[in-house]
Amino acid sequence: MTAASNLLLPVMPDTHGHFGQYGGMFVPETLMSALSELTDHYEKAKADPAFQKELDRLLHEYVGRPTPLYFAERWTEKLGGAKVYLKREDLLHTGAHKINNALGQILLAQRLGKKRIIAETGAGQHGVATATVCARFGFECVIYMGKVDMERQALNVARMRFLGAKVVAVTAGQATLKEAVNEAMRDWVTNVRTTHYILGSALGSHPFPMMVRDFHRVIGVEARRQILEREERLPDLLVACVGGGSNSIGLFHPFLNDKDVRMTGVEAGGDGIIPERHAARFQGGRLGVLQGTKTWLLANADGQIELTHSVSAGLDYAAIGPEHAWLHEQGRVTYNYATDQEALAAFQELSQVEGIIPALESSHAIAEVRKVAPTMRKDQIILANLSGRGDKDVAQAARMIFGEELKF
Ligand SMILES: *Cc1c(COP(=O)(O)O)cnc(C)c1O
Repeated sequence: MTAASNLLLPVMPDTHGHFGQYGGMFVPETLMSALSELTDHYEKAKADPAFQKELDRLLHEYVGRPTPLYFAERWTEKLGGAKVYLKREDLLHTGAHKINNALGQILLAQRLGKKRIIAETGAGQHGVATATVCARFGFECVIYMGKVDMERQALNVARMRFLGAKVVAVTAGQATLKEAVNEAMRDWVTNVRTTHYILGSALGSHPFPMMVRDFHRVIGVEARRQILEREERLPDLLVACVGGGSNSIGLFHPFLNDKDVRMTGVEAGGDGIIPERHAARFQGGRLGVLQGTKTWLLANADGQIELTHSVSAGLDYAAIGPEHAWLHEQGRVTYNYATDQEALAAFQELSQVEGIIPALESSHAIAEVRKVAPTMRKDQIILANLSGRGDKDVAQAARMIFGEELKF
């Protein structure tokens, strides 16, 4: 028997960036050569032990890896079912998983000889991670951010500016993440010879969904080793929130061929599954093309992208990464959603029971654990990804939960 036939799923994507019928490269002609160059350099870097060594060193010394796998003992007791472990990406430098990818990509930009970096950001976490690595490497940094998101996430805007980045307000359309991506793409088309675009999730044209996934696989690789050390067996269920899909694919990917490990991705249910009031692409979404990739997205019958809503800016996006569309089609990963109210309740419960304030994005995964842990046996194990810390969300949560305006 060959090694490949032991695999539950084929290796993805193919050389053109397709995950089954999803993914690909839907970009203007002017970007094709830059994307091929990027793919080539990435493949070479991946195979180069010196690149991996430098990445590992910085992930350890600068970013704080490995992150702990924490047994949430009090919360497990309260839920009364499966044992719950949390992968503590919230403890990373800058407060979320995003820095794993930002660091990998800036090392790549260095190999490409490009010293100007651009990025888009929604909640500001990817903007902060990118501004951070730009400061660390002495690169010029321009961050595109929707004007509405800049108001919601003023703290992160200030952080980016302190780190030396230029933050450009995008006022078009809904003035959130989708429009910020459009502006970043426009900049990239114009300045592609000098500029690398650090895309922030497992989204967009090939090679980004593959490359971003690979830079986050460290989450799942560590978690797998840690749970085996601790429990001498694999978990029964993995849970992670899904915006573009980077923290979830990072956790899931190293377990995809472990057929007894179930996986749930949690999308933003907003006010409930009502058109324009949520961002749960697998609830009422359709197949389409957005910002470089063919995937599952929220659009009306004419193909117009619909408005989205979520309490968490980081999950508030109309499309999902193409690998998730494929894993959904394969039935390998189950996709559920949590509403704003469920996420806020989870935010409070984890804070009070474990002394850990989760990001509102991560609170969607926490909400799913609250629902399923009590239905599972006490000898079963859930491993959930705590993708980020909630410091950035405190003002918003105080307004929504206590009705208080905080002034910083
Ligand atoms: C950005 C963000 C997310 C959503 O993005 P993914 O690419 O789906 O991981 C989730 N959690 C936190 C803390 C984030 O900052």
